[in-house]
Amino acid sequence: MTPSKKAQRSGQVRPLVLVVEDEESFVDALRVGLDREGFDVEVAIDGVQALEVFDATRPDLILLDLMLPKLSGIDVCRRLRERSEVPIIVVSAKSEEIDTVLLLEMGADDFVTKPYRLRELVARMRAVQRRRVSAEPRVDVGATIEAGGVRLEPETRRCYVRGEEVKLRRKEFELLQLLLANAGLVLTREVLIDRVWGTDYVGDTKTLDVHVKRLRALIEQDPKSPTLITTVRGVGYRLDAPKPPS
Ligand code: CA
Repeated sequence: MTPSKKAQRSGQVRPLVLVVEDEESFVDALRVGLDREGFDVEVAIDGVQALEVFDATRPDLILLDLMLPKLSGIDVCRRLRERSEVPIIVVSAKSEEIDTVLLLEMGADDFVTKPYRLRELVARMRAVQRRRVSAEPRVDVGATIEAGGVRLEPETRRCYVRGEEVKLRRKEFELLQLLLANAGLVLTREVLIDRVWGTDYVGDTKTLDVHVKRLRALIEQDPKSPTLITTVRGVGYRLDAPKPPS
């Protein structure tokens, strides 16, 4: 993404979808159609580019064609899951033998067969996004949680990031605990504020963003392009805890 495009995006609440597709006619149709449906669109035309564009833009959702040059959709899916819990919808041609069990094991969220109707595709995209939103986040208040290189010990109220202790204020600790305990799920701004500041909280909702910013400064390797605490535009935040490489 060019800097100017990134600047245009700031302040917007349109979800960003990464379309991984090597057939130009599909790409063109999706660019126009998804834009009209309220999505921003990034495109990658092969499997290697898909991973590069993913790292550069951190999209909210991925449409992943199965038959791709350079790296297959299955390999792309597997590699994405090593670094992110981003929702992935796999798109395949009718003629292709698709191994849905394998794809589910690889971490795909849903499948669509070409040719598809745009309305059906968009409905599935919205459904996948909704499923990833957790209305009832769980927190086991006493349990030590470890994910994405962050270890949180509620009993001692200590936090370790990649082995080093960092000092968290009370609300920061509670917010991080909630995000870690629900890793991979989107927590809405309302849920986060309710759980951390209480349902009767009447302060500025910017408080949440300020706390997230501080947490990122403490736990992210590069706070300017966070990979652990992901902003889900227009919805809330999600902690992406990449699995350790196997
Ligand atoms: Ca293809």
